[in-house]
Amino acid sequence: MAARRLEGRTTLVTGGARGIGRAICERFAAEGARVAVADIDEAGVQRTAEEVGPGSMALAVDVADSKSCHRVVRQAIVALGTLDVLVNNAGYLRHTTAFDCTEDDWDRMMDINLKGSFFCSQAALPHMRDRRRGAILNLSSLAAKTGGVAAAPPYGAAKAGVSALTLHLARVMAPYGVRVNALAPGIIDTDMTRKPSGEHAELARRIPLGSRGRAEDVASLALFLASDEASHITGEIVDINGGLWMD
Ligand code: NAD
Repeated sequence: MAARRLEGRTTLVTGGARGIGRAICERFAAEGARVAVADIDEAGVQRTAEEVGPGSMALAVDVADSKSCHRVVRQAIVALGTLDVLVNNAGYLRHTTAFDCTEDDWDRMMDINLKGSFFCSQAALPHMRDRRRGAILNLSSLAAKTGGVAAAPPYGAAKAGVSALTLHLARVMAPYGVRVNALAPGIIDTDMTRKPSGEHAELARRIPLGSRGRAEDVASLALFLASDEASHITGEIVDINGGLWMD
C-alpha cells in the first residue's frame, strides 16, 4: 500500500461542515491527518467531525470575528498539539448586482471571505514560524479574475483580496519554510451554487469539460498542495475550473 500523504499531520479546516470544506476534511483524514473541523454551523460541524472519523474534532468559529479566528486556531493547536496545515475555506456568497448590493451584503461577503482568511492565518503564523514548517491554503475563486459578475460585487472583490493576501503571506513566510497557496475553483456543485443566478447557470453551461466540478476534485488539489509533493510551490493561485478560464 502506498504511504499516506498526510500521515500524522495536524490540520484545521474552516467552513468544514459541508461542501468543499467537508470533502477536504474527508480526504485529509483518509491520507492520515488528524483534522479539526471548524464551522459556524455547530450541529453540522459536530456531525461532520463524527463522520470524518476518530482522529477528528469539531470546533465552533465565526470567521467574520477576528477574536473567534484567533480562538479557534488556539483551540486547534492545544487539541492537536501542533498545526501543520490551515485551510481557510469558510466562504459566503449571496447573489447581488452592482445595482442592488447592500452594505450588509458587502460587509458579510468581505468579512467571511477575506477578513476571516487573514485573521485565521495571522493566528497561525507565529506557531508555524517558530516550528519552521507549515502550509496555509486559501480558497480564492475564478471570480477573482472575472470580477464575479455572475456572483456579486463584494464576492469577486473579496476573492481578489484572498489572492493578493496569498502572495503577501507567501512572501512573508517563505524564509521560515512555510508555504502559502490558494485554490481558485470555477463552478463546483455545492450548496453555494445549487441556486444559481441566471448568469451563473449560463456560465456553467459553457464549461469546456462539460460539467460542474465536484467538491472531491477540489479536495484532491488541496491534498496535493498540502502535501510534501508540493514542497517547492508557494505563492501560487491554482485554477480548477474545467477549462472555463484558460491562461
Ligand atoms: P458552502 O456554502 O457549501 O459551504 C461553506 C461553509 O462555510 C459552510 O459549512 C458554512 O456554514 C461555512 N461558513 C459560512 N460562514 C461562516 C462563518 N462566518 N464562519 C465559519 N464558517 C462559515 O460553500 P462551498 O461551495 O463548499 O465553498 C467553500 C469555499 O470555496 C468558499 O470559500 C467558496 O467561496 C469557495 N468557492 C466555491 C466555489 C463553488 O463553485 N462552490 C467556487 C469558487 C470558490
